[in-house]
Amino acid sequence: MENNNNVKEKTNAEKHERTKKKLKIIGITLLAAGAAFVITGFVDFIKNISTFNQPQLFWCLIVGFPMLGFGGMVTAMGFRKEIARYVKNESVPIINEVGEEITPAVTSIAGAAMSAVKGEEKIKCPECGTENANDSNFCQECGAKLKKVCPSCGEVLDNESKFCDKCGYKL
Ligand SMILES: [Zn+2]
Ligand SMILES: [Zn+2]
Repeated sequence: MENNNNVKEKTNAEKHERTKKKLKIIGITLLAAGAAFVITGFVDFIKNISTFNQPQLFWCLIVGFPMLGFGGMVTAMGFRKEIARYVKNESVPIINEVGEEITPAVTSIAGAAMSAVKGEEKIKCPECGTENANDSNFCQECGAKLKKVCPSCGEVLDNESKFCDKCGYKL
């Protein structure tokens, strides 16, 4: 009977540990994603403010801040025991342990955020629809001359234009 109880306690503790581990991973992932969003939104905000444009990625800030807050809460929950242990002066190599599991997730999230930003700066070939790098003048797929749209007046321009020929907007 006593033995049975011990086993049960052990499973519960194990379950608890797994939950905590999940909390750590979710918390740190949220923190990283939140940070990525905040940075993305902030950079876009600054970039557009300096050119008097409407910041298009402002939603990144709106999404990022609660994500950071929530991530912080979840992380604190997951690390509560470790924090208590740390206070007791026991060194725990948790950062490394969690770090190894987290890194791929963080890398892929950061990558997704980056490609979302870069994706907006891609220029679509008017002939074949291939996405080309923003600074390309000709399509890498079919060689067609690429066009861009003036962000100020909407005029369609050659991609190598430095200024809009209709409104003079600096591109
Ligand atoms: Zn093309
Ligand atoms: Zn223009």
